[in-house]
Amino acid sequence: MDLGFTRDEEFFRQEVRAWLEANLPPAWRQEGKGGYREEEDTELQREWQRKLYEGGWLKLGWPKQAGGRGATPVMQAIYQEEMARAGAPGILGRLGVTLLAPTLLAHGSDWQKDTYIEKILSGELIFCQGFSEPDAGSDLAGLRTRAERRDGKWVLSGQKTWSSGAHYSDKSFLLARTDASAEPHRGIGFFLVDMRQPGVEVRRIKQMTGGGEFSEIFLSGAEVEERDLVGAAGDGWKIAMTVFGFERGGLAQAARFERAVEELAALARDRGIGADAPTRQKIAQARIEAHVFRLIGLRNLTRAQHGHAPGPEASVTKLYWSEMDKRLQEAAIGVEGMYGALAPESALAVEDGRWQYGWMWAQAETIYAGSSEIQRNIIAERVLGLPRGR
Ligand SMILES: Cc1cc2nc3c(=O)[nH]c(=O)nc-3n(C[C@H](O)[C@H](O)[C@H](O)COP(=O)(O)OP(=O)(O)OC[C@H]3O[C@@H](n4cnc5c(N)ncnc54)[C@H](O)[C@@H]3O)c2cc1C
Repeated sequence: MDLGFTRDEEFFRQEVRAWLEANLPPAWRQEGKGGYREEEDTELQREWQRKLYEGGWLKLGWPKQAGGRGATPVMQAIYQEEMARAGAPGILGRLGVTLLAPTLLAHGSDWQKDTYIEKILSGELIFCQGFSEPDAGSDLAGLRTRAERRDGKWVLSGQKTWSSGAHYSDKSFLLARTDASAEPHRGIGFFLVDMRQPGVEVRRIKQMTGGGEFSEIFLSGAEVEERDLVGAAGDGWKIAMTVFGFERGGLAQAARFERAVEELAALARDRGIGADAPTRQKIAQARIEAHVFRLIGLRNLTRAQHGHAPGPEASVTKLYWSEMDKRLQEAAIGVEGMYGALAPESALAVEDGRWQYGWMWAQAETIYAGSSEIQRNIIAERVLGLPRGR
């Protein structure tokens, strides 16, 4: 494992910092963010994506022949880390930028690459992900949405759920069954579906955070042109695996956690319990865990730098950060004492309700992108080589 950065990498870090200094307005920095503020967040994230696109940052790790900068995994991690340190907001088209665009680069037709990639990166087209269904989440291969070929088009019927940002998305990258007689992992197609057409109905799901980030999608005769099928009609599972390969955490989260631990310590001091032994122990524990997570990130980075694709060890990373965040948020609620039970939007909520909001949001982190139980199964079977459970 390499613990240091080279001179060139440190220069690159300075370049990112200088750009952020010049382009990230102080009011946009997400410090101590309170409850859910959708309108404000949506517009801010759209604008921020545009700025990053114009600054050339959204293709940082892409090969030079695809118009990217060809940045190494370490440079990409430095970029992510600096974004997190500066409290940069998220981007509205996150799923399209981080998951779909690189997947299209690998599996898309020339038409799909030419038509979509720049629009996805610039934020002109926002995509949501339509994988999960009411009875197909962890067991994604059990999905039942059907795609039938009729008059040279694909016609889709079924239901998707938990689709983040579906209510403001223009399109969806969605899995549907193209061959009901094939084995579950075969006979699945990967479609680019226009969300603004008859036959697509989006119903928002209200969350306990007060927000409504995700939705159900009802498909009843929605149409997809043949050119919007990615790969062949039975390639969907393979392409979905490429998508999952891009869902991983790293140094950005380490920087975010280190910052959160500092903020937790400040909260404890403000509440007058900074010297309280159990509180100090929880904060020290959180600091240790954040540091261990940084080391895990560096180990992954070293592997990536040596050309290894992320393997099942990615599950260790996902399991670690999501469970760690739950403990951290819980410690903060404890530090707030009886104020910790207030709703984030309450006038008496401490620090604009950010820790209550964070605690509620952390509950989702051990579910999406593979639940903790699923990650433990993968670690047991594919990292530790234990026998398969029933
Ligand atoms: C905030 C958030 C955003 C999301 N955004 C999207 C999105 O944009 N697009 C999308 O398609 N999906 C999205 N999802 C859905 C997410 O992918 C699923 O919630 C996840 O795959 C789990 O599926 P499930 O909810 O159906 O739970 P289930 O799979 O029904 O699991 C229920 C429980 O059983 C456990 N379990 C299941 N199988 C096993 C097993 N084999 N061994 C042990 N335990 C098991 C699980 O760990 C869990 O505790 C999102 C979810 C969240 C929380």
